[in-house]
Amino acid sequence: MSAQETQEREKTGAVFQTSKKAFLLGFKFEPALMTKVVVIGVIITALGLLQLTSFSKVVDEIVSIKQQGGALTRTLFIQMGILAFSFLTPAILQNFMSRFVQGMRLRYISRTNILRIDTFSKLDVSTIEGTEFQTKLERAQQWGVGTLPNLALLVVNVLRDAIEFTISAIILYSINPRLVLLAIISSLPVYFLQKKYSYQLYSLYHNRTDEARIANDRNSFFTNAKKMVEVVLFQLSARFKKEVEEANEIFDNKVLDVHKRRSVATIASDVLGVLCLLIAISLVALQFMHGAILVGSLLLAFTAYRNFTGVVRTFYSDLTQIEDQARYSKRWLELFELTPNMITIPDALRPDWKTPPVITFEHVSFRYPETDVLVLKNVSFTLASGEKLAIVGLNGAGKTTLIKLLSRVYDPDEGKILVDGIDLRDIDLQYWREQLGVLFQDFSNFQMTAAEAIAIVRSNIPIDRDKVLRSAKMAGADEFIEELPKKYDQLLWKGFQDGVELSKGQFQRMAVARIFYRGALISVLDEPTSAIDAVAEEKIFEMLETKMEGKTVVLISHRFSTVKNADKIAVIEHGELKELGSHKELMAKAGRYAELYTMQAKRYLEEV
Ligand code: ADP
Repeated sequence: MSAQETQEREKTGAVFQTSKKAFLLGFKFEPALMTKVVVIGVIITALGLLQLTSFSKVVDEIVSIKQQGGALTRTLFIQMGILAFSFLTPAILQNFMSRFVQGMRLRYISRTNILRIDTFSKLDVSTIEGTEFQTKLERAQQWGVGTLPNLALLVVNVLRDAIEFTISAIILYSINPRLVLLAIISSLPVYFLQKKYSYQLYSLYHNRTDEARIANDRNSFFTNAKKMVEVVLFQLSARFKKEVEEANEIFDNKVLDVHKRRSVATIASDVLGVLCLLIAISLVALQFMHGAILVGSLLLAFTAYRNFTGVVRTFYSDLTQIEDQARYSKRWLELFELTPNMITIPDALRPDWKTPPVITFEHVSFRYPETDVLVLKNVSFTLASGEKLAIVGLNGAGKTTLIKLLSRVYDPDEGKILVDGIDLRDIDLQYWREQLGVLFQDFSNFQMTAAEAIAIVRSNIPIDRDKVLRSAKMAGADEFIEELPKKYDQLLWKGFQDGVELSKGQFQRMAVARIFYRGALISVLDEPTSAIDAVAEEKIFEMLETKMEGKTVVLISHRFSTVKNADKIAVIEHGELKELGSHKELMAKAGRYAELYTMQAKRYLEEV
């Protein structure tokens, strides 16, 4: 068995599981609507077959009336009635069906989006940061959530196909069992052709051939405004156009080649189909000649046979589509089944802190999941209530990691973090989050008005305009907000007509303003001013140190000069806490801090 075959076999089970989940999710989201879609779908299919049988009965009745002298019978009227019913009802139901299917698709997508919000909001930062989640999310996002309702509705189609298939087979069997065998033989090539060529086409489109990858990447430069700027500046369009043209040609030729081979094979299978049909007709005609069946059944056999082979075709094309949609749906379902890594223990504590708790790191060591490098090594220190701590160190020293542990994004591998003497793991995670105001480097820009974008960090209470103004002022954001056309009511959203876009430094000030607005017992800021000049940074730090009175502030910076007023400065190097003390103490010590401080100050003076 080749590797590819094994892969396909494994997939069949997964496809079935995914389809089942997507189908059942439909019932969970919209039980009434989904039931209507299934029931009406089945009724329409069944009535379609009633059209065949009732027509055959009408024909038989007409023949018999003719033989018996021409007087119309009651049976004829009943059969005509059934015929009319079998045509009219599906026509009416089809209208409802289209509406319900549309409704189902829309509702399903809306509910899936809500499900995504619900599931993701339960995840913790370490899961979200992890490569597993990010890869899964990226893969899922290549296809919208619409793939799930597509799959659920395809399952309904397959159910309908199966019903049509079964009833057609029963009709054929009742006329002549050998007809079923013939119909199956003529359908087999269709099955193999669909399977083979659909898979080849699928592989071409989704295995991301090299040329498709090149074309996608180059095309992406023309769908993203920022990337397009580079194309203009570096005059890349001619080169990219050529690459896209070439890649498209190679790819299109591959696709067309599969279509060509498929069409040749299909002709052969059509010939076999017609041969089988001729044999089938001969068989039934013989039965008719011998008087075993009436002319109505002759007609019925013909249409039921055509129906049978037709539905096999639809069935396999539906199955191929199911396989397709299941692959994408699986990615979403996998995401929805993720569970958080960080959990709160039962009976976790929620101490009623009025003032910031004392924070103690006790011999804390840590390595990131699935890595074996110790990023923090035996770190111990204590931070008193309301103290302002600055963490300095070179890139990659472990500063961010340290505050991630404090924010309980991760738990230490060794040692513990105590807050007022309680192990952080024993404290309710949500409650701990409420005590924190954390600003990581890759913060989000909230697309809303300036006031809302500051007050968002206390989204459960109405906006306090005075506090917004104070916070903006402390972060130095008031200067540019005042100059915006609508000031604090200015929409910071370029996508809207009157919206504006801020610069990176301005967005950073907005982010710092949020920390002031949040006014948490413990504020943690990771290089909040990297895009702001040193003088402005010093001002912001001064505000953090003076205006956050009584509150604990932990601040990371790579500029030594701007943090010298902090109560304590921690120098982290290669994951170790090298020095801890006030600026004065550390300078007097003439150790690593003094060395780095002098070095930076000198460079700064040289630059100025
Ligand atoms: P700093 O903030 O001092 O620049 P970090 O705490 O961000 O340093 O990083 C310390 C070390 O941990 C670096 O070697 C970095 O590559 C590694 N690291 C950071 N984040 C992760 C992660 N999510 N997974 C694995 N390693 C990481």
